[in-house]
Amino acid sequence: MVVDASDLRHLRRCVELAAEGLRAGDEPFGSVLVDAEGEVRAEGRNRVAGGDRTRHPEFELARWAADRMTPEERATAVVYTSGEHCPMCAAAHAWVGLGRIVYVASSRQLSQWLADWGVPPPPVRALPINEVAPGVPADGPVPELVDEVRELHHRLHHGDAH
Ligand SMILES: [Zn+2]
Repeated sequence: MVVDASDLRHLRRCVELAAEGLRAGDEPFGSVLVDAEGEVRAEGRNRVAGGDRTRHPEFELARWAADRMTPEERATAVVYTSGEHCPMCAAAHAWVGLGRIVYVASSRQLSQWLADWGVPPPPVRALPINEVAPGVPADGPVPELVDEVRELHHRLHHGDAH
C-alpha cells in the first residue's frame, strides 16, 4: 500500500472532520473528495445523530459527485476517509463511478475495537470495500493515523466525547 505526503495531508483532514463530528455529538467519521488536480472539492462528516443512520460522509460525497462532476472527473477523483467505507457507501461510490479510496482505519480494525469494547455490532456487516466494489482501488489502513482514529472511537463509546 502506497500513501504519499499528499495522501497523508488529506487523511489528517479526515481525522479532523471526524473529531469535529464527535465534538458535535455525532460519530467520528470524516471524509474528503479530491479531484485529479489535487483540489479538495467537498468534505463531510457523519451526521447520523439526528436519526437518519444513512448520513455517512462517503455516501454524501458520492451523491455530491454525481450531481456536480462529470463521469470523467469522478473516475479520477479520490475519496479519503477516516474509516473504510461501509457496504452502503462502497456501493454508492462504485455506482457513481468514483476512483480511488484511501482510508485510515479498516472496517476489520473498527469491528475488532467495537468487539473489544463490548459494543454491539452494527446492523450491516463490515465487509471490505473490494468485496462490495471489486473494481475500486482501495488503500489502507494507514498506521501513522490509526491510533488517532481509534482514540476518537474509544471516546465515543466511553462517554468522554469532550
Ligand atoms: Zn457508510
